[in-house]
Amino acid sequence: MNLVWFRNDLRTLDNPALWHATQSGHTLGVFYLCPRQWRGHHMAACRVEFLLRTLNCLRQQLAALNIPLLVLTENDFSTVPQSLSTICQRHQVTDIYWNDEYPVDEQRRDDAVVALLQAASIASHRYHDRALAPPGMVVKGDGSAYKVFTPFKRSWLALLDHGVPDLLPIPARQKPLKLPPDCDGLGPIPDSLPGFNSAVPAELWPAGEAEAVRRLNHFCDQGLAAYSRDRDLPAIDGTSALSPYLAVGAISPQHCLHEALKVRANGGSEVMEGADTWINELIWRDFYQHILVAFPRVSMNKPFKLATDAVPWRDDEAGFRAWCAGKTGIPIVDAGMRQLQQTGWMHNRVRMITAMFLSKNLLIDWRRGEQFFMQHLVDGDLAANNGGWQWSASTGTDAAPYFRIFNPFSQAERYDPDASYIRRYVPELEGLSVRQIHSPAQLAASKPSQYPVPIVDLKLSRQCAIDAFRAVNG
Ligand SMILES: Cc1cc2nc3c(=O)[nH]c(=O)nc-3n(C[C@H](O)[C@H](O)[C@H](O)COP(=O)(O)OP(=O)(O)OC[C@H]3O[C@@H](n4cnc5c(N)ncnc54)[C@H](O)[C@@H]3O)c2cc1C
Repeated sequence: MNLVWFRNDLRTLDNPALWHATQSGHTLGVFYLCPRQWRGHHMAACRVEFLLRTLNCLRQQLAALNIPLLVLTENDFSTVPQSLSTICQRHQVTDIYWNDEYPVDEQRRDDAVVALLQAASIASHRYHDRALAPPGMVVKGDGSAYKVFTPFKRSWLALLDHGVPDLLPIPARQKPLKLPPDCDGLGPIPDSLPGFNSAVPAELWPAGEAEAVRRLNHFCDQGLAAYSRDRDLPAIDGTSALSPYLAVGAISPQHCLHEALKVRANGGSEVMEGADTWINELIWRDFYQHILVAFPRVSMNKPFKLATDAVPWRDDEAGFRAWCAGKTGIPIVDAGMRQLQQTGWMHNRVRMITAMFLSKNLLIDWRRGEQFFMQHLVDGDLAANNGGWQWSASTGTDAAPYFRIFNPFSQAERYDPDASYIRRYVPELEGLSVRQIHSPAQLAASKPSQYPVPIVDLKLSRQCAIDAFRAVNG
């Protein structure tokens, strides 16, 4: 018997572990709910609920292939190896298959599983599916990892010259597998877990592989051509909104690449440009995963640029709380933070603006913001979140130079020109004109009393951040 251990790869199409297991024998699946571990990793309640809904869809799809999916609870990773070993004994499993995960805790867990199962003569088969190019494949001439995106991207794109591997099909239905009726893990999958109660409506994020594929196809048909133009405008649905599905693995990045290349091959210049820009984002996604593997310190609360650990971050609890609540008095920042809390998602441009505001204007440790995002994002992903935060805070790879600090008012004027995004999430400003919203002086003169005054002077705080960073960067 083969066992597929599902993790963030909750799909049947283009799933290397599932495919290879089913090609070599009768297959059973397992997934572990690890609530204490997830709490320790600050996993958002909306992401946990999204994952549970995705798991339900996966179980149904696997049932159609006669592959039962056991869903078991182990509070944290430490007891997973023993539990897997018990399952292997109980079901006469000889081989276990999984797709690798790259953060340090997950790697340690997997190494412990390999060691325990090896002792029991059970073979482990590990595959890559998280990134388009497996970590280690895109490296400098001397074999070391890239630290800067642009040369990484150049090397990555050169791989495309060798062609793109075909997607692995959905496995054929196997002969029915009879499990004992008292077998652990066959009970219903809960809708939520104690301690993870989300206020984000489930309807915002319909789960499952079919929904992910539908979104991909819809975006490639309707959105790709305008992506270069619209992707930075938070008021419109100009991006794919596939990130939650990629985070739980309801769709593979390879599938996204295939579809984009297919549409690109048949499209005009706008489609080609849109496809190239979108693929660029998928390469950013790969880049941050490669960084996580090559520089494990980034998943252990350390900045990529170690010198920036000496930045004198401010202890400003009131400022942090105002930022979290979307009550900073800076409209675009407040709109973004409220979008995050209400929907579990925030537009990429606004993620950068809010992250830079916290780490530069408020000079609050970026790790606090990183954690808050993880606690609220439906697409929370350690590599992308850490990469995005460190980029914004100028502590990371390819960081924006520390003196390049977004002015949130100019950003809002440029990317939300009619202020419709701000008005959607900050209804207190609904009655104000565009000019009043985008001009600090006019906003101060006309803002309604229930909207806060800015918690920080943008010009002064910008200079303080530059001084603080200059001192550690030399
Ligand atoms: C401070 C900060 C925190 C972030 N945290 C996360 C996170 O936890 N999870 C997450 O998936 N993304 C994160 N991002 C990246 C990006 O904001 C989201 O991936 C994107 O907004 C998702 O929307 P989309 O699916 O419509 O993206 P699209 O524009 O349609 O892009 C397609 C896919 O490419 C990937 N992608 C796009 N931009 C980036 C990027 N800058 N870095 C890495 N991957 C990217 C995502 O998987 C995305 O789904 C963060 C960015 C910043 C600045």
